[in-house]
Amino acid sequence: MQTSAGERRQVVVIGAGPSGSIASALLRARGHDVLVLERQKFPRFSIGESLLVHCLDFVAEAGMIEAVDAAGFQAKNGAAFAWGERYSDYDFGERFTPGAGRATTYQVQRATFDKVLADEAERQGVEIRYEVEIVSVGRTNGHRTLAARAADGEVRTIEADFVLDGSGFGRTLPRLLELETPSAFPARQSIFTHVADRIPGGAFDRKKIRVTVHPQFHDVWYWLIPFAKGRSSLGVVASKEFLSRYPGTPEQRLRTLVGEDPGLSSLLAGAEWDTPVRELSGYAANVKAMHGPGFALLGNAAEFLDPVFSSGVTIAMRSASMAVAVLDRQLRGESVDWARDFEQPLRRGVDCFRTYVEAWYDGRFQTVVFSQGQTDDIRRMISSILAGYAWDERNPFVAQPERRLSALAAWCSKQ
Ligand SMILES: Cc1cc2nc3c(=O)[nH]c(=O)nc-3n(C[C@H](O)[C@H](O)[C@H](O)COP(=O)(O)OP(=O)(O)OC[C@H]3O[C@@H](n4cnc5c(N)ncnc54)[C@H](O)[C@@H]3O)c2cc1C
Repeated sequence: MQTSAGERRQVVVIGAGPSGSIASALLRARGHDVLVLERQKFPRFSIGESLLVHCLDFVAEAGMIEAVDAAGFQAKNGAAFAWGERYSDYDFGERFTPGAGRATTYQVQRATFDKVLADEAERQGVEIRYEVEIVSVGRTNGHRTLAARAADGEVRTIEADFVLDGSGFGRTLPRLLELETPSAFPARQSIFTHVADRIPGGAFDRKKIRVTVHPQFHDVWYWLIPFAKGRSSLGVVASKEFLSRYPGTPEQRLRTLVGEDPGLSSLLAGAEWDTPVRELSGYAANVKAMHGPGFALLGNAAEFLDPVFSSGVTIAMRSASMAVAVLDRQLRGESVDWARDFEQPLRRGVDCFRTYVEAWYDGRFQTVVFSQGQTDDIRRMISSILAGYAWDERNPFVAQPERRLSALAAWCSKQ
């Protein structure tokens, strides 16, 4: 391994996923020097394909909305839930929190989406170096020292006044600085692929993610995320223990599980399985702190809850926007309070999603979703959370999620 002398930068961002691209573009727009180091070459596969409306507020803030609108992604206007004969859907146009007023978002192949965002950041003047991996981090005289390994094995030292970690499931700084703590969620696993779905026109609303609850096991669920041009993402999520009962290759296991739900298997009867099936497990994670001297953690590098509400990219982008607001002030010489201005307010929304994730797996949220008894007002409040507005405390289901949801579930179960 060859090591060479370093360079000094104001901000280094680790990773060019959604959190890294949004954070770097926002910093550049405020006049700061920023370098992004990404260990892979783009385009590259990533999971997390169903976006929420709120995440487009940050895409717009970063000046990237025209590029995303022009990329030809499948429009998404809500979320649909199916359980046997039961079906319920929520429309993002009918929601409590207006945000920037968009009624729709997108369902995206992340290889393309992440490249659109990274290319936009570069077009705005951000420097991105691909195939460079951060392998260690230190601290000298008040700044951070990063060891960055290039594809040829050479390791360069880069000094930064501040480091934003947007490395997602790479969890670079949590690993290197020993910030990791276990998630309170049980270990779950996901098996997924992309298919040419061949779903007949009209059989299914392509503008919604379809979340199907397993006919017998309410804590096992499938996603069907339609993309443009007749393709879909298909996956199942269950506990590791449950999935260990299914033998065979990942494709055989996913096919068997899809076969257990008559509605899903009928929709996908003509599907062409043309993409290798992947598995991911143990993705839920947490950290002791989301910031420290000379660094802050973005998106999944900090915490990942669960895929059920498609909240990951929204949390990643929201964390980027919030971190940049604080870092901009710090770089201009103001004294800032990362706990008060970044971690605490970010965690409030994440904790709101957490309540809904817990209520999904213990069945309370499913009782609500499939109940016919919700008023239009309540549907708008729930729809707002499903659209990503989990930080709007004017929404009673955000301000007091546990109390409101439990009361509503109890009421719905008596209807
Ligand atoms: C099964 C599953 C389904 C999901 N479905 C959804 C969904 O439908 N909607 C949704 O919004 N979210 C979903 N998510 C969550 C989503 O995948 C993440 O929340 C999102 O990708 C986080 O974005 P990010 O920018 O934080 O990190 P990432 O998108 O993971 O980007 C991190 C980047 O950092 C790079 N990197 C990592 N380590 C290093 C290093 N040491 N040096 C340099 N570069 C590095 C990586 O190569 C990568 O490009 C899902 C997650 C799972 C597990």
